[in-house]
Formats: sequence, structure tokens, C-alpha cells
Amino acid sequence: MAKVLIIGAGGVGTVVAHKCAQNPQVFTEIVLASRTRSKCEAIARAIGSDNITTDSVDADSVPQLVELFKRHNPDIVINVALPYQDLTIMDACLECGVNYLDTANYEPKDEAHFEYSWQWAYKEKFEKAGLTAILGCGFDPGVSGVFTAYAAKHHFSEMEYLDIVDCNAGNHGKAFATNFNPEINIREITQNGRYYQDGKWVTTGPLEIHKPLTYPNIGARESYLLYHEELESLVKNYPSIKRARFWMTFGQEYLTHLRVIQNIGMARIDEIDYNGMKIVPLQFLKAVLPNPQDLGENYHGETSIGCRISGVDKKGEHLTYYIYNNCSHEEAYRETGMQAVSYTTGVPAMIGAMMFLTGKWNKPGVHNVEEFDPDPFMEQLSLQGLPWHEVLNLDLEV
Ligand code: NDP
Repeated sequence: MAKVLIIGAGGVGTVVAHKCAQNPQVFTEIVLASRTRSKCEAIARAIGSDNITTDSVDADSVPQLVELFKRHNPDIVINVALPYQDLTIMDACLECGVNYLDTANYEPKDEAHFEYSWQWAYKEKFEKAGLTAILGCGFDPGVSGVFTAYAAKHHFSEMEYLDIVDCNAGNHGKAFATNFNPEINIREITQNGRYYQDGKWVTTGPLEIHKPLTYPNIGARESYLLYHEELESLVKNYPSIKRARFWMTFGQEYLTHLRVIQNIGMARIDEIDYNGMKIVPLQFLKAVLPNPQDLGENYHGETSIGCRISGVDKKGEHLTYYIYNNCSHEEAYRETGMQAVSYTTGVPAMIGAMMFLTGKWNKPGVHNVEEFDPDPFMEQLSLQGLPWHEVLNLDLEV
């Protein structure tokens, strides 16, 4: 008997709810709670399973979360609200003795700043409480870390160069839309780039470094160097890594829109006065952009996300290695009503919770995914809709 509480009823929350419902042997009871209860009810109706109940909560409020936890008494919370709520939910978990999992690191609302320090600071408290917190268990961060742990366990004695490559070759037919929460997405992409080299972080201008990379079943796509949060934990957990970078593809149309949005001030995250009201331009923009949850119906093509690694193999020889998953937007939509970006995030979040509830990833403290055994997770990835592939001794192009 295990009860899961999912917080957040957006694109990712919808997929997590579907996938938990498909695994009733692990998730015997599911509670879906979010700020807007009607969204939770619509998801529960679409799934049509009788082990899902819904509730509402403002996850910025620890007292409201504590009341929610006391009402439902879950074994684990899957936090797929926004990164702003990570710390309040972790506080409530400590107060009520509930285990925790999320897919994005904490960000303060008034500063687009990505680092794990705020959440790593909870390590001792979770350890003392005998509770497990699993951080960053979507695809990237998430599967990118599990892929790296799998490479370290099965192929490398020393990993030296790591490049995480994320391609969305899908087409949703809109002039401009983001694939997950627009506010979070635009904050991430308009940041300076950053990568790790020889023990130091190197900063670049936003999207300054780019090159074409070839993705399986897709072909060459211009790929841009971004900072991504899993780099921070991976270089800490694998000190042999000399260089770690993250690349993401963008089309020209997307980049042109993004540049205009920035140039006209719509990407600002500070408050401005509008007709006597305080508004944040980026939050206003989110209200007029297409909802990522509505993109799925006409989305074609696939995503391809993986890790390209080189270093020394178990026999002491040089090895180049690529491990990846391709996911079809159409298939994701057919199964869950959501596109592949939500799907590739929600499936690993469900598997992470499954790993905890089945005792495979049960380790009190606060941990990033690569700190656990990758094998049982990798086995489930293939079974739960995200099959993966490995290629050895190839040109990594990076
Ligand atoms: P959405 O914006 O679609 O959904 C967010 C949900 O959280 C909404 O239902 C929203 O409620 C709810 N929410 C927001 N604030 C609160 C609050 N204070 N209290 C309760 N509920 C709240 O986002 P996505 O589903 O696209 O993304 C969810 C998370 O997944 C984000 O943190 C994102 O960063 C992460 N992500 C991670 C990826 C990875 O690979 N690791 C990739 C993609 C996303 P309402 O509907 O009322 O606004």
C-alpha cells in the first residue's frame, strides 16, 4: 500500500498522474492537488481510474501544505508545480514526515538563478528525519544524470568529457510557443551560458556558442550551449570529469521571437506599474502565449535527449559513448494527451517515486539522481515508454 501525492496539474503533472495510474501495483492511492482544483478534476476524469482523488493547495504556503499532508497522509510527494515551491514543499515534508521528489531545482521568483545550494542545505534535516528527497528527476535534469551514472557503472573507469544534448525536432504549428511553463523556460534560455572546464565554471553570453550536432533519426540541428542545473551535481559526483556542457536545439523562428520578446522588455521579471497595478512582464506574457498543455494535438516529430561521453573504459582504453532516448510527440499525446516534453519529464518522475516506494532508491538525505543505482531505473525507463539506446566508439562531434 503506497499513497502518492502529486502537486501541480500542468503538462508534467498530467503525465505523472497518468503514469502512476498505469502502475496501481505500486501507487495504490493517488492524490492530485494544485492551485486550481478544477484542473486536477479534469485530469482525474480523463484517466478515469477510481484510485485518484483531488484537492487544492497554494504550495507557496507551508501551513496549507501541512494541512494537505495531514488530510491525505502520503508516503511521497511528487512536486511538479513550479521551482519556486520546492523549499516550501520540502519544509512541509519535514514537518509531516513525508518523502520528496522534484524535477527542477529551487529558484527564487525575483532572480533567475539556478543552483542546488538551497536544497542541498536540507540534507542533514532529511537525514535526521529518516526521509529521502530525490532532486531533479525529470529528463534533464533526471534521466541525463541516470544515463551518466549508468555509463560510469558499466562502461567507464574515468569519464573525462560529458556533453548532454537535447534536441526537440517537433513542430507544433504555432509561430511561437514554449514546451513547458513559458516563464520558467524563458528565464532559463535568456541566462548567460555556463560550462565546466578544468575545475572552473566558464561563462558565455546567452546562446553565444553553437554548432550543428547530428541527432539519431532526426539529422543535424543547430545546438546552443546553455547552463543546465544537472551540470553542478554531475561534476561534483564525478570528479574525473574535465569538461561538462549542455546543448539544446532551437529553430531560427523561435530565436527571432525570443530576441524581440527581450528587446521590447517582455522577458523582464521585475515588477512594473501598469494602470496603477503591479505586473511582471514575463508573467503577463505567459498569460497570452499558447498553453504548453494545448500543444499536443498537432505536435509532430520527436525529441532526442542523451549524453555523449568520452574517457577511459574499464580496460584502460579510450572510449567514446552515446546514450539517448527518442520520444515521439504523437505517441506521447495518444497515451496521455500531452506532448513529448511533458511526457519525457513526467515518466521519469513517476519512475523515481516508484524506485523509492519499492525500496530501491530509499536513502535518507537529499540526493541527486546519479547517487542511486541506475540499473532498476533504466529497466523501468524501457518498460514505461522511454526506451534508450547506446552507441560505442563513434564520432561524438563535440
Ligand atoms: P505548468 O505551468 O504547465 O504547470 C505547473 C502547475 O503548477 C500548474 O498546474 C500550476 O497551477 C501549479 N502551480 C503553480 N504554482 C502553484 C502554487 N503556488 N501552488 C500550487 N500549485 C501551483 O508547468 P509544467 O507542467 O510544464 O512544468 C512543471 C515542472 O516541471 C516545472 O517545475 C518545470 O520546471 C519542470 N520541468 C522539468 C523538466 C525536466 O526535464 N527536468 C522539463 C520540463 C519541465 P495553475 O494551473 O493554477 O497555474
